[in-house]
Formats: sequence, C-alpha cells, structure tokens
Amino acid sequence: MRKPLIAGNWKMNTTVDEAKILVEKMLSGLKESQGVEVLLCPPFISLQILADMLKGSGVALGAQNMHFEEKGAYTGEISPLMIKDICRYVILGHSERRHIFGESDETVNKKVLSALTHTICPILCVGETLEENEIGKTEDVIGRQVRSGLSGVDPQGQIVVAYEPVWAIGTGRAATVEQAESTIILIRDIISELWGSKNADEIRILYGGSVTTANIGELIERPDIDGALVGGASLKADDFRAIVRSTADIYAGL
Ligand code: PEP
Repeated sequence: MRKPLIAGNWKMNTTVDEAKILVEKMLSGLKESQGVEVLLCPPFISLQILADMLKGSGVALGAQNMHFEEKGAYTGEISPLMIKDICRYVILGHSERRHIFGESDETVNKKVLSALTHTICPILCVGETLEENEIGKTEDVIGRQVRSGLSGVDPQGQIVVAYEPVWAIGTGRAATVEQAESTIILIRDIISELWGSKNADEIRILYGGSVTTANIGELIERPDIDGALVGGASLKADDFRAIVRSTADIYAGL
C-alpha cells in the first residue's frame, strides 16, 4: 500500500514568528499521525527555524520552489544546494508558478531533474485551467504536463505527482471526487505507459484544490488518491491537524 502524504503549502503567508506559532499549535496533533506522512512547505525564510523545531517529530519539510542551477547569477533565486539538507521535498510546477511567473513545461522538467540529482523528492504539480477544462482539453494538458515533467526521469527515482486543477485552487470549489479520481487514474495510466505498471503502482499521486476538513474523507477513501496538497486549510492548525487525522483514521481502517 502507498503511504498517504498530506502536504501543507503555506504559499507567501506567515512571517517567521507566525510560522513558529503555527507549527507549535500543529505539532502535538501531528506527532500522532501514524501511517500518514506529513509535510509542511513554509516560505523559504522559515525553513531553517522550522527544521530545528520539527527535529524528531517525523514531520517533513519542503520548499515551495527552487531554481534548477546549483549557484550563480540568479538574483532572488534559491538553489537545490541551499535546501537539500533541510528539505525532503520540493513543490515544482505549481500552477501559480506556471501561470503567474511564466514557468514552462521545460523549466519545470529541469527543476524536477535537478531536485532528483540532489536527492530532494519533487512534488510535480499538474492541472488544467477552467477554460481548458470547459473545452474538453483536460486530458491533453495533463498528458503534456506529465510527460514533459517526467522526461528523462529515472523511474526508480522518488517522485510525487499532485493533480491540482487550476480552477479548484483557492476558490472553495474543489473537484468532485469522481473528477479528481478519474484524472488521477489518467495520470497513473500515463506513468504506466512511460515506466511500466509496477512503477506506476508505486508512485503517489495527490489531489489538491480547496481540500478542507469537510471533503478530505471522501477524497482519501478513493484508492487512487494517495493524499492531498493543501493550501488555505494548512494555515489553520486545527483544520490541518483534522485533515491529517481523518486520513490516518481512514487508512487505519483499510
Ligand atoms: C495549493 O496551493 O496547492 C492549493 C491546493 O490551495 P488551496 O487548498 O487553498 O486550494
């Protein structure tokens, strides 16, 4: 069975002091989340202090982005060498990076390859816009993003994929369980074509987009949905803990 992963993406929220308070509030509940891998992705500036606070807790840390080069004249960027000792994961190709900051499929792929080279597990985000969804282009867009994101990646490499329909992110309008599940099955089929069914069966594929305490249960119950990438609800300690707990309860009952 694939171990579920619940990841909190704090985006550009929380000062260092606020991040410390949020983690303090979360910590007790998160330590009891047996069977679930819990991941927090705060802003870069809070990574080190949270790494110290989370030591021994079992809660993993991740970055929200990184550059693919190790160092150089890239003002404002953060390199894999700077995060690899404290981050087990890095979110790559988030729709906000693709749509607001213009990251191409090619750039996302370079970042995925670079993360793997530095033994950081990429969480490759893919998802269609509302317009693409409405004109029936979901399969094409997901196919393109998955194939190009995974281009040149060793099937043995540790990687997570997150299906995040752009229209569901931060809108309060989550995909239905059926929509989320069918697209995740499509992603697994594409990976199976690329890497064979054994590797496709092992890879964790998350759903993200307006995940809350109210909808996590029905999502996690679906066998193909291996966890969630949570934005807004990960900024509320009680909600995030409840999302982790629901996931742990469902897996404990399987
Ligand atoms: C996200 O930022 O990846 C996300 C899914 O956000 P939200 O849960 O707020 O929709």
